[in-house]
Order: sequence, then C-alpha cells, then structure tokens
Amino acid sequence: MITGKLYIISAPSGAGKTSLVKKLQTEMDQLVVSVSHTTRNMRNGESNGRDYFFVSVDTFQTMLEDQAFLEYAQVFDNFYGTAQKTVADNLAQGLDVILEIDWQGAQQIRKLLPDSLSIFILPPSIEVLKQRLQNRGQDSDDIIARRMRDAVTEMGHYPEFDYLIVNDDFDLAFNQLKSVITANRLLQITQQQRLAPLLQNLLN
Ligand code: GDP
Ligand code: ADP
Ligand code: 5GP
Repeated sequence: MITGKLYIISAPSGAGKTSLVKKLQTEMDQLVVSVSHTTRNMRNGESNGRDYFFVSVDTFQTMLEDQAFLEYAQVFDNFYGTAQKTVADNLAQGLDVILEIDWQGAQQIRKLLPDSLSIFILPPSIEVLKQRLQNRGQDSDDIIARRMRDAVTEMGHYPEFDYLIVNDDFDLAFNQLKSVITANRLLQITQQQRLAPLLQNLLN
C-alpha cells in the first residue's frame, strides 16, 4: 500500500492559502485538507467541522493532555492544532494530506515527519497583503493590525520551506501549487508502486 504525502502550506494571514487550497480540493483527487482545531471565534460564513473545529480553551487543553495533537501552536492569541488521528488514517489510506498551519507547526511536523514537503505562499507586497485582509471583510481593524505585525515574523521563516510561491495572479499561483503536487506524484519511487501491474506487464 502506498502511503500518502504530507504537505505543509504556510503563509502570512491574507496571502491566500485558504483560497488556493479550497480550489485544489475541487480539482485534485486523492487529496484531503486537514481540518484544524482552533480556539478563535468563528467568522461569518465559516462552519464548524468544515473550516475548523471551533473549541473552547478548556477542550483544547484536554485534547493536549490526551496527546490528541500532531502539532499545535499559539497564533495571534489563539490556539490552533492538528488532530493526530485523522492525518495518520488518511496517509495510511494513500491519500495526500494538506496542513494549513503556521511556521511553528511546520517546524514540529518536519521533525516528526521528515518526508513531508512544505510550501510557503508569499503575497506580492505588504500593501497588497493588508488590502486583502481588509477586502476579506472578516476581521476588525485591531485584528488586522495584529496579523500585519505578525506577517513579517511568519515570512521570515521562508528559508525553512521546500517551495516558495508568490500569490499575485491567482490562477498562476494555483497552477504552480498544483504542479508541485503533480510532480511529486510522478516521482519514480512512487510511480513504481502505483504502476506495478503495468511495469510487470511491460517488462515480461
Ligand atoms: P487566515 O490564515 O488568515 O485564514 O487565519 P486563520 O485564523 O485561519 O489561521 C491563523 C493562523 O493559524 C495561520 O498562521 C494558520 O496557518 C495557523 N493555523 C491554522 N490551523 C493551524 C493548526 O492546526 N496548527 C498550527 N500550528 N497552526 C494553524
Ligand atoms: P489566508 O487563508 O492566507 O488568510 P485567504 O485565502 O482568506 O488567505 O485570502 C485572503 C483574501 O485575499 C480573500 O478575500 C481572497 O479572496 C483574496 N485573494 C486570495 N488570493 C488572491 C489573489 N491572487 N488576488 C487577489 N485577491 C486574492
Ligand atoms: P485564521 O485564524 O485566519 O483562520 O488562521 C490564522 C493562522 O493560523 C493561519 O496562518 C493558519 O495557517 C494558522 N493555523 C490554522 N490552523 C492551524 C493549525 O492547526 N496549526 C497551526 N500551527 N497553525 C494553524
């Protein structure tokens, strides 16, 4: 059985990672996006279990004590974490799994699972990043200011990532992201297992 590949996608808030990943889900098979747990408030249009599992700080702490998280971090005054079991089950079934997590979580995952690949999404400029957070219309001015302050710290971690994509033209960035996953699926070592019957047929 071929196990799936784990992809980490990080970016400063507003760079477009959620939009890119949502589109990827509609266009690629055998791919699941991990739904994180968070203690932040639900935004308009978000739903529990689809965008996040929205939990109280108490519930989050209990899950931590129960070692339910593969990784977790405090980001902008809230806790965010990836539940361990779902990721492990999906990878074991041969599905590729995407984690949309911050740089702290990315560091933890690389240590735990060195075979994972990580992709960093950059905005075309600081001004555009701020404009996108404002246009998204989901966060107060205070929260936007907080996210802009943390954006530079987040972006400073770009050298730790395997791939860098600039999300200026959305379709271009999307195609680049899709190409990373497609190229990895074509690696000989992976194809050798996936194409075992064909290879046997051709070589005999
Ligand atoms: P958005 O990125 O602007 O849509 O804001 P979110 O509130 O959805 O995410 C806030 C931050 O938390 C981002 O840096 C995410 O990458 C990060 N994040 C989300 N889920 C997780 C998680 O499960 N683990 C970790 N470590 N970080 C997460
Ligand atoms: P993140 O998940 O990284 O915080 P989002 O996917 O929520 O970012 O995107 C932030 C905002 O920017 C959204 O309103 C989204 O529609 C918009 N956006 C994303 N990519 C682009 C792009 N290439 N050009 C213009 N707007 C974009
Ligand atoms: P937002 O609150 O805007 O949805 O997300 C803010 C940040 O939290 C994003 O940068 C996102 O990547 C990060 N984030 C979301 N879920 C997780 C998670 O499970 N783990 C970690 N480490 N970061 C997360």
